[in-house]
Amino acid sequence: MTELKQTSLEDEIKEVAKKAGAAAVGITSKERLIDCSDPTYILPNAESVIGFIVPIDKKIIRNFLQKTDFSAQKAMSLTEGETYHKIEDIGNAIKDFLESKGYEAVNCEVNMDYRKIKRRGKKQIKQLEQLIKLAQNEPENPMIQAMKRGGMKVFNLDLTPKISHRYVGVACGLGRLGWSGNLMTPKYGARIYLGSVVTNAKLKPDPYLETNPCSKCKVCVSACQAQFFDSSETQTVKIGDIEETIGKKHTLAKCILSCGAFTGQSKFKSWSTWSPWRIEIPDDDKEAEKIVQQTFVNYILAGGEKAQNVLRLATDTQLGFSKEVKPAEEFRVTCGFCQLVCWETEEERRENAKIIRNSGVIELEKGKKVIKKL
Ligand code: SF4
Ligand code: SF4
Repeated sequence: MTELKQTSLEDEIKEVAKKAGAAAVGITSKERLIDCSDPTYILPNAESVIGFIVPIDKKIIRNFLQKTDFSAQKAMSLTEGETYHKIEDIGNAIKDFLESKGYEAVNCEVNMDYRKIKRRGKKQIKQLEQLIKLAQNEPENPMIQAMKRGGMKVFNLDLTPKISHRYVGVACGLGRLGWSGNLMTPKYGARIYLGSVVTNAKLKPDPYLETNPCSKCKVCVSACQAQFFDSSETQTVKIGDIEETIGKKHTLAKCILSCGAFTGQSKFKSWSTWSPWRIEIPDDDKEAEKIVQQTFVNYILAGGEKAQNVLRLATDTQLGFSKEVKPAEEFRVTCGFCQLVCWETEEERRENAKIIRNSGVIELEKGKKVIKKL
């Protein structure tokens, strides 16, 4: 007599996630995350977290790294937007399934959702819009004068996420942290976006991934204009039973200046990100933090596209990336290089580094962005 194999709740969750578009799914207990990214912050009676990934297409990444033309940036941005929305859908499918079984579940936001930044809705965005108008129309206004003297803290730099999807990925056995601190998977490298669902269902955790796929090739370091992570100093991160040794991270202000598009160049002069603007990012972390606040003020005062860049970052942080607030067409990627260069084989990673080095620069010519091959 053949025995009928019963499908476990864990298997059913994974099937739901894969059917919705996840390339890989894993499960962790809350205990593995409690000391590094406690899921009870999101759901007080949390017991488990489901992590999942969606890879990014290689051709789209290569065109973006190579700066083939401006459509390459558009395609990368649209892919990011569509993938973020897909992750939202996968998370909702898992959440709906768990709720149908009588459990509680929270679909965590894919990005820009921080513990110390309260979502204040559209009000703060309106205020920033008014400030930008005031800077253009009434430059003598006392508030604008105070901003000019550097008397305004514009941005909170404490960006601890409500949940670290990367730590969830390690705890679920989906991958391990590479030198850059990004989640690296054996099949897709770090060219993935991540999602997580926290639930009060007590689920069996998956085994950790034993071998870290990071070869310490440091291609990620050579792709970061901001030098956000160190090339030799290390730091350790403990995620459950796994102790990861990664490149020492510097202040987030450095990544904000580069990935936030405030500058397209700093460390390397033979290529740039997709930003046409230039600011030198100092080595010293405290100095970089001062510069980020002053840059926000300067860009508001400058008006035009620079002010819109501040507005975009504030809007993303305050409102998030859900389908209702940010359509896929409105995403705009200018960096993310540390992650995008990190493919699954070292040969591919080295090729990506070469492509970036020869990709040229984005500059402004008579106010218009151009790609210049050097
Ligand atoms: S680029 Fe190289 S060093 Fe950096 S995370 Fe990937 S494999 Fe590790
Ligand atoms: S996103 Fe860009 S600036 Fe930020 S750490 Fe990665 S490469 Fe550096």
